[in-house]
Amino acid sequence: MDIDNPGRSEGSPSRPKANGFQLYPVSVNESGEGLPYAPEDWPHPGDKWVWKVGKRIAVSGFFMDRYLYLPSRFSLAGQGRCFASRLSLELYVQKHFPDVDVDAFFSSFSWKIPSKAYKRGVDYLEISRYQTKTSEHPLSDSPMGGCKAGNRFCSSLDTGEDSVSEIMFCDICCSEPGFCRDCCCILCCRIINKAHGGHSYIRCEASTDGYICGHNCHIDCALRAYMAGTVGGSIGLEAEYYCRRCDSRTDLVSHFTKLLQACESLGSRDDIEKLLNVGFCVLRGSKKTSAHQLLNSIEKAMSKVSEENGR
Ligand SMILES: [Zn+2]
Ligand SMILES: [Zn+2]
Ligand SMILES: [Zn+2]
Ligand SMILES: [Zn+2]
Repeated sequence: MDIDNPGRSEGSPSRPKANGFQLYPVSVNESGEGLPYAPEDWPHPGDKWVWKVGKRIAVSGFFMDRYLYLPSRFSLAGQGRCFASRLSLELYVQKHFPDVDVDAFFSSFSWKIPSKAYKRGVDYLEISRYQTKTSEHPLSDSPMGGCKAGNRFCSSLDTGEDSVSEIMFCDICCSEPGFCRDCCCILCCRIINKAHGGHSYIRCEASTDGYICGHNCHIDCALRAYMAGTVGGSIGLEAEYYCRRCDSRTDLVSHFTKLLQACESLGSRDDIEKLLNVGFCVLRGSKKTSAHQLLNSIEKAMSKVSEENGR
C-alpha cells in the first residue's frame, strides 16, 4: 500500500514531544483522541491520532490489543490507516518520516493502556486464566501482547513478519477467552503445532480494506468440515481453502507449490512425506489444470519416497 503523506509538501514535521504521562485506566473497547494514548500535534499542529483498545487484557493489566488511527485529515484525504502493532507503526513512521527519531516519536505518547476492569478486578477470573505470575505493580512491566492460549511457541510472541501486517478486528472467535488468532485453529480451537513446517495448517491472508484476516486452521479440520480441497454444493471449492471467519478463498495449488519448494530445500524426509500426503488429500478431485499438474508431481514424489522407504 502506498500512502503519500498529505503533510509532506508543507515542510518537515515537528518533533514529537517527550513523555511523562499520568495514565488513566480505560474500559474494554474504549476509544479516544490524542494524549496520553495517541500522538497529538504530530506530524502537524492540531493533528490528533485516535486510539482504541480491544478486549484482551494482559497479566500486567494493560490491554493486549490496542490500535492507533492516523489523524482524521488523512482519512479525509483517503489515506486513513489503522495500526494494530507497534512494529507496523514504527515501519510506517520510518517510511514516511525518515528524518524523525522513532524513539522520540514513541515517547511522545503512551503505547501501553491500562485496563479499568483489571483495576476493579472485574475480569480478574478471565485474566488469571492466562496468568503465570501475579504482578505486584501492574503498571510497571511491559508485555507487548501475549498468547491467550498460553502457547509459549505462539508466533504472536516473536516480532517476526506476522506482526507487520494489520490484522482485522474480530469480535467473534478472537473475543473468546483462550482463543489466540495466531496459533489456534478456527474450527477445533486447539493450538496448532507449527514446528514442522506448514503442512498441517493454513493461515488466511485475505485482506479487506487493508486488514488481513490472519486466522489459522488445521488442514485436517478444514478437510473434515468440507472447507478445503474440492467440494461441490453451495460453497463450491476447487482446490481451495474457505475461511469460515472472513468467507475468503485461498488457492491451495499455489499454497502447496510454495510449501513443496520450501520443503525440498529445508525439510526433513519425514516433513516431505507428510506434506506430500496432505497435498494429495487437498488436491485430489480437482478439475483445475494446475491442481492436476501438481497432483501428478506429488504422486511421482510419493512413489519415489515409498520406493526409498521399502529399500
Ligand atoms: Zn497464540
Ligand atoms: Zn477471530
Ligand atoms: Zn483444528
Ligand atoms: Zn479469513
